Amino acid sequence: MLYKKLLVTGGAGFIGGNFIHYMVDKYPEYDIFNLDILTYAGDLTKHQHIEAIPNYHFVQADVADRDTIIRLFEKEKFDFVIHFAAESHVDRSIIDPEIFVHTNVMGTQVLLDAAKQISVKKFLHVSTDEVYGALDDDPETFFTEDTALQPNSPYSATKASADLFVRAYHETYGLPVNITRCSNNYGPYHFPEKLIPLTITRILNNQKVPIYGKGNHIRDWLHVLDHCMAIDLVLHKGLDGEVYNIGGHNERTNLDVVKTIAQAMGKSEKLIEFVPDRLGHDQRYAIDPSKIERLGWKPAYTFEKGIIQTIAWYMEHQEWWKQMMNRPDHHDFSRQDSRLSSICKNSF
Ligand code: NAD
Repeated sequence: MLYKKLLVTGGAGFIGGNFIHYMVDKYPEYDIFNLDILTYAGDLTKHQHIEAIPNYHFVQADVADRDTIIRLFEKEKFDFVIHFAAESHVDRSIIDPEIFVHTNVMGTQVLLDAAKQISVKKFLHVSTDEVYGALDDDPETFFTEDTALQPNSPYSATKASADLFVRAYHETYGLPVNITRCSNNYGPYHFPEKLIPLTITRILNNQKVPIYGKGNHIRDWLHVLDHCMAIDLVLHKGLDGEVYNIGGHNERTNLDVVKTIAQAMGKSEKLIEFVPDRLGHDQRYAIDPSKIERLGWKPAYTFEKGIIQTIAWYMEHQEWWKQMMNRPDHHDFSRQDSRLSSICKNSF
């Protein structure tokens, strides 16, 4: 196996963190740099066990800080860039879209410039199925790589903008890029503001579990390790300039997800509490993953197996999620941030 230098942005977050664990294990001959500014979602305790490994390095920086990023690229001459860093929470984007433009759009453009300057061998941009907007409930319709981009939230609008910049740097400058668009992830180290870890941690704390609207929004769930394996495959085998959708045909309503977790944890459905719906809440996401399957990817986890493993992980790692929830900048979105609920109320 050849020596390679990899830059992983956002590697202190949920998916980037899992990806680093996966890559450090699988490719001990790769030098892996984790660049992260450490927002409320960034956490380095998850990497304590690899800190001493000589091929793992951490750099604290803002992806949109042009001078720092260009200097780093010129010094390290990365072969691959895998770009996870983002503001990622839709509710937060409704309250404060500007930071999403800064990180998700401007940060991506700065990284693209730096990657072009040193001629990286691959720039892999980790995007989301949310850029496609929403599907209706017809179970025969799916997002394909050719579906038009119709983002509905400030978050997905910034991700779609970044995707277009990545595409443009390939078309204009010939930068070797890939874009992956994945469905909702779940698994270890997921920040407890998102549906699955929120449900598990609330049940463990004997609290009510809030669900938006009637809980009938449908998401396509994928275990984070299956996402990591897909990214690894695209990084090494993806055709330059191509987009790959990643999803495991695990469509569930939010209500079904919460009921499955409650049942697996031996709790009654009475703990569910319906709260006013989020603004612009997309009805359904569902991925057609046939293109990445043709590249050789197949998910290892069924939802049933993955959710049991995830519940067990949160039971065994209470210290981790409790310290994440106790951070001063952690907003309890489950109860709805006061600014978010006033925006919601004004819209009714
Ligand atoms: P996350 O919020 O857990 O992690 C994001 C990381 O980016 C954090 O460590 C944060 O500190 C870092 N970051 C934020 N702003 C930064 C900046 N300006 N400079 C440097 N670092 C910065 O997010 P996640 O859930 O791990 O998502 C990772 C990527 O995957 C995102 O691009 C997201 O759009 C995409 N994605 C996520 C999902 C999902 O279900 N979570 C699904 C599809 C795609």
